[in-house]
Amino acid sequence: MISNARDVPQGTNLTADVCIVGAGAAGLAMAMALRESGLKVLLLESGGDKDDEATQALYAGEVADERMHSPPDKYRKRVFGGSTTIWGGRSMPFNPIDFEKREHIAHSGWPIGFDDVAPYYPRANELIEAGDFDYSARSALPDAPPVIEGFQSNTILCDQLERFSCPTNFAARYRHRLAECQNVEIMLQANVCHIQLDASGQTVQHLVCGTLDGKRFQVSATRFVLATGGIEVARLLLASRDVMTTGIGNRFDQVGRYYMCHIAGNIGKVVFKGKTSAIHHGYDLSAEGVYCRRRFSMPAELQRELGVANVIARLHFPTITDPAHRNGVLSGLFLAKNFISYEYGKRLQSGERDSLGRYARHLLNVMTDPFDTTAFLLHWIRYRTLSERKFPSVVLKNRTNLFSLDVHGEQAPNPDSRITLTADKDALGMPRTRVDWRYSDIDIVSVDKMLALMASEFKRCGVGELTYDPKTLADDLTMYGAYGGHHIGTARMGTDVRTSVVNADGRLHDVGNLYVASAATFPTSSQANPTLTIVALALRLAAHLKTLARQAS
Ligand SMILES: Cc1cc2nc3c(=O)[nH]c(=O)nc-3n(C[C@H](O)[C@H](O)[C@H](O)COP(=O)(O)OP(=O)(O)OC[C@H]3O[C@@H](n4cnc5c(N)ncnc54)[C@H](O)[C@@H]3O)c2cc1C
Repeated sequence: MISNARDVPQGTNLTADVCIVGAGAAGLAMAMALRESGLKVLLLESGGDKDDEATQALYAGEVADERMHSPPDKYRKRVFGGSTTIWGGRSMPFNPIDFEKREHIAHSGWPIGFDDVAPYYPRANELIEAGDFDYSARSALPDAPPVIEGFQSNTILCDQLERFSCPTNFAARYRHRLAECQNVEIMLQANVCHIQLDASGQTVQHLVCGTLDGKRFQVSATRFVLATGGIEVARLLLASRDVMTTGIGNRFDQVGRYYMCHIAGNIGKVVFKGKTSAIHHGYDLSAEGVYCRRRFSMPAELQRELGVANVIARLHFPTITDPAHRNGVLSGLFLAKNFISYEYGKRLQSGERDSLGRYARHLLNVMTDPFDTTAFLLHWIRYRTLSERKFPSVVLKNRTNLFSLDVHGEQAPNPDSRITLTADKDALGMPRTRVDWRYSDIDIVSVDKMLALMASEFKRCGVGELTYDPKTLADDLTMYGAYGGHHIGTARMGTDVRTSVVNADGRLHDVGNLYVASAATFPTSSQANPTLTIVALALRLAAHLKTLARQAS
């Protein structure tokens, strides 16, 4: 059933077995898993069916350094479906090494391993609609030609795949199935403003909810799950401080710390030798019709030996902002950047004020490259605009064998990188967030070491030359700040209440009936985009709650 909080009478006390807060990827995956469980599930979602300014404004807050992080109301959506309404769909699981305690990465190590999450990945992959749970090119794309003909390396691997969701908007896709469901109610426009603990501080008594038209009501439940995304989980815990004066789960000042995104950027110049047909840098379709792309990665034993974080790289077109590429399509993108949404346009800005000369040179590129530009537009309209399963991103025929590398690297947990609250309040009276995102030396050093290795491996195999400037690497990787949309680590999982917020089940150490389903619980960030693992862990939590309910009955 789908209902609306504005229809709930003022002062009502609603009840449920499980109350989930937030209908994004995590909350909706849990609701799907709890269908027909016999449990009465109430899913409270702040947003309505459509984006609206007043609701989105509840996400507004401050950033410590605007160059380092986008404003907190960007790169996340407060609407039914959450950020899956705008996500890119790039998906891959974490690697087993990501869960390990690595001596070279301070604060690393999960209380669970890859094998604990593995049983939930295939269903998560189904929910995000990324086809079979097979992330090896060897088995998923047996007939695909090598990425670079003649390149054979034991240290730079080309077998890892990323798969692309449609990208699936969870609200649009699962709304009808959940609406028909007897035991699940999704309540839209219901904002949780406060978590009320009992006097002992060890049990949630109820949640205080508010609507933007001024109503208040509360929800009591046997168990509560926060699935409000990596920034908002910390906000709710920190803001609920009437019983625990430093916030819930925050006796040891852990909530909001270790905030991670990813380190990413287009780096360097790769010039391949030989024919352009020897380089296969684009998408391949798997047998089930899912777009897949191969990437460069380092084996786990080598990461340990070099003392680096987990980093991947993909072949990418030359830097868009520089008209020297003389490519009409790239220049067209540059010229259209102000019409593209903030989230997708940000990394097309050149970082300096664009001169008229720069615009003129891009315009000239478009005018002198009419065939490629038209072919691209036709392809884009057919396979992106009009298709349900969308062609994931711009990939161009490369006539020059000149590429850059698109790097996506793990960010090590850093306690000084954190979310705190401000004195300023939103329309519902909740303190707003302040984001102080910081990176660590190892984040940059890890990319540097991987690029140096790639350069020497390309050279050893005689396939081409990779050049980059290690001196400007930190600036190049952070020129757009934190990679947007991945909000990780603010309520980390662990075994010790002094260094973590939730236990291996995702339950607050201190509070017996409060759980978190979100990248907030990830102690480390991996090279992987987070959503597939968010969904897998949400399914694991749903299975755990079902077991607890069975044991109690
Ligand atoms: C532009 C963009 C591109 C992305 N691309 C990718 C990608 O390619 N691959 C990938 O893996 N990830 C990607 N992501 C990240 C992905 O969208 C998130 O990882 C995912 O949506 C997180 O799911 P979630 O359920 O934890 O949070 P969300 O999807 O953010 O959902 C949280 C929900 O909680 C609700 N909520 C918040 N506060 C309250 C409250 N107080 N009361 C009630 N409800 C509340 C919100 O309205 C929202 O619906 C991208 C993100 C963006 C912005």
